[in-house]
Amino acid sequence: MVQYKAFLIKYGEIAIKGKNRHVFEEALERQIKRNLRDCEGEFAVERQTGRIFIRCLSDYDYDELVGALTRIFGIIWICPCVLTEIKSFDETAGEIVRYIGEAFPDRHVSFKVKARRPNKKYPIHTMDLNAMIGEKILDAYPEMTVDVHHPDFELNVEIREQINFYARMIPGPGGMPVGTNGKAMLLLSGGIDSPVAGWMIAKRGVTLDATYFHAPPYTSERAKQKVIDLAEQVARYAGPIRLHIVNFTDIQLYIYEQCPHDELTIIMRRYMMRIAEHFARENACMGLITGESIGQVASQTMQSLLCTNAVCQLPVYRPLIGFDKQDIVSIAEKIDTYETSILPYEDCCTIFVARHPVTKPRLEIIERSELKLAERIEDLYRQAIETTETIICDGSPSLRQ
Ligand code: ATP
Ligand code: MG
Repeated sequence: MVQYKAFLIKYGEIAIKGKNRHVFEEALERQIKRNLRDCEGEFAVERQTGRIFIRCLSDYDYDELVGALTRIFGIIWICPCVLTEIKSFDETAGEIVRYIGEAFPDRHVSFKVKARRPNKKYPIHTMDLNAMIGEKILDAYPEMTVDVHHPDFELNVEIREQINFYARMIPGPGGMPVGTNGKAMLLLSGGIDSPVAGWMIAKRGVTLDATYFHAPPYTSERAKQKVIDLAEQVARYAGPIRLHIVNFTDIQLYIYEQCPHDELTIIMRRYMMRIAEHFARENACMGLITGESIGQVASQTMQSLLCTNAVCQLPVYRPLIGFDKQDIVSIAEKIDTYETSILPYEDCCTIFVARHPVTKPRLEIIERSELKLAERIEDLYRQAIETTETIICDGSPSLRQ
């Protein structure tokens, strides 16, 4: 088996950020080091111009390491490299041929050799290297062909203090490294949508905080644990998430008592937004994030979104707004939140939901209904904030079963 002693990390978008480039590169390096801490083995992370090089200093688990790297936003390609000392050309070529044989067991493929020689002490020029290595490969595997325009794979050979070569490239998630674009507050429920929404915004480099509203005893400890598990899962990509768990029961019961039942969901949602915005401001978040998508349910019609949005001063980011459910499910599966999201525990919104909620609420009517809450709502709001529990979900494997 080929032993990959190094991984070359390529990043795209962040390389074009001009003056801010080093900020992005440092954030990426930080994320890589953080994710590697959770992997078995010892690694050294080196920043080189326009790329990051990871050396494997001990044995490691290949799948675990690649898994950890594919969760780092900003990475475009992960290239497992064979790293070898400078030796005679024939010896090096022999190693390359052996590697190609193992990496491409189906020999009916075309390739192109791309040599680079930053180490000018190496005696053979790149053009000659391309031709000579290509010839060795063709000699060993006559079914392979050279195609310089559209090859099935490109063999990269880099002559530095050591020689490294690679031909396989694993796609990274793209996006921008978390920590480069401020912080936002995710309204995280136990459903399918909100974890995906948080993941999408984190992919743009945004650090996440989250707020979850529960309604004990109407919602159970298991429902709460499900949300914590989802936050942990999102944190595997987004880095540590500060999760605010708000006891929403008294506010919900009071709304239930005082307001028309067909408006419950909208009024509830408006209080969720207000409280989430409170914690957002307290934690330097510059926006709110929800998993809403136009028309998905009664509380997400254009009219309902208008009413919910009206209580927020901060911008509300709704990355799923134009997505169909199936598109959202596909992402949830990809980022491993789906299985948790579909666990059947109750949600505070479904318990107090009206049989026939308004689908076209009017803002002035909703505002008028909320006046009925005047007597106690401020106290209840303050109590909800004061009794909020905050935990840090850092996505570390020790916390997952
Ligand atoms: P999800 O799958 O994210 O639960 P949903 O389809 O169930 O979404 P709604 O229940 O209408 O949709 O919720 C819309 C959005 O409001 C959610 O995506 C989430 O951002 C927020 N939200 C709903 N319920 C809660 C809750 N209990 N705690 C925190 N946020 C919530
Ligand atoms: Mg929900």
